[in-house]
Amino acid sequence: MKDEVGRQIDYLRVSITDRCNLRCFYCMPEDGVQTKDCQEILRYEELYRIIKAATELGIDKVRLTGGEPLVRKGVLDFIERIKALGIKDLSLTTNGTLLPKYAADLKAAGLDRVNISLDTLQAEKFAEISRAKLPLSQVLLGIKEARLAGLEPLKLNVVLIKGINDEEIEDFAKLTYDNQLSVRFIELMPLGESYDWAQDRYISIFEIKERLRKLAALNPVNKPQGNGPAKYYRLAGAKGKLGFISFISDHFCSNCNRVRLTADGFVKPCLHADSEHNLKEVLRTGANDAELKEALEMAILAKPEQGLSQEAKTNLELNQRQMSQIGG
Ligand code: SAM
Ligand code: SF4
Repeated sequence: MKDEVGRQIDYLRVSITDRCNLRCFYCMPEDGVQTKDCQEILRYEELYRIIKAATELGIDKVRLTGGEPLVRKGVLDFIERIKALGIKDLSLTTNGTLLPKYAADLKAAGLDRVNISLDTLQAEKFAEISRAKLPLSQVLLGIKEARLAGLEPLKLNVVLIKGINDEEIEDFAKLTYDNQLSVRFIELMPLGESYDWAQDRYISIFEIKERLRKLAALNPVNKPQGNGPAKYYRLAGAKGKLGFISFISDHFCSNCNRVRLTADGFVKPCLHADSEHNLKEVLRTGANDAELKEALEMAILAKPEQGLSQEAKTNLELNQRQMSQIGG
């Protein structure tokens, strides 16, 4: 379906939990966020009804996220059920720690591909960033298992933070020489945990590209990559691609094709605006499928034309949700 300004909305990101087995310092407080009561979180049956309504409105790309989506029990059965709704591209964003256990089963259940978030290739730094007892080797094994299972094209998402992992930009980029994967550099957003200090630790995509050009020529990849926010390049001679996602320095609002559903049942038509539409209430006050679909349609139609307007910036300050509660 099209929104009010004619953008084709065909992508839904669904956060299926606000819990996580890591505590990345820029995303979650060390003690974890105040997680919602179980009753506040949508049940699988409720998520299923919303996703079904979304597919009827023309959404054919769905990404599961969290918190960490693989910590929620029953995720394999849920994936199998929603894939049967005819979703063309069913993907999942994960920190990778549970992929050694689940990669093959995820593929068998119908998941098409995964994006894995990994901000460092150094074991000690991984412990510092993630503040968890799980080792980096578990994520690296997860990446290997995901590739063996055929959860491809595989994307690695790296959030860059000055003074923390910026010295590894070249090491990440070099992974694309021999591996057919995309390494995507993401600008840090001032949201939730990082709100107070993100500006001081911010590195622009422009700066990253300048550094990478010292490694080799950086050639734009012209093939269309869908309506996602990443712009793709390839280092001369590399098998894989480099993606750049600049929420801050390069707005892509006019091409935005997505809406988000939080684990507690709110549609967020724009990540950078505070407006939310309570679908849980619609569901739990007995709406039938047609009414639910209408409520979702209204939320999509309310997608703002631009996210980072002055009004939205003010809203960002007011935004009460952490990134782990929105799903990235
Ligand atoms: N736990 C899963 C994971 O880490 O991939 C899924 C949820 S996590 C919130 C989704 C993505 O949001 C991760 O790639 C994470 O690095 C990113 N993220 C979290 N806080 C961010 C911020 N302030 N700026 C940019 N990206 C952020
Ligand atoms: Fe968890 Fe992902 Fe946030 Fe890290 S970025 S704390 S893995 S939700």
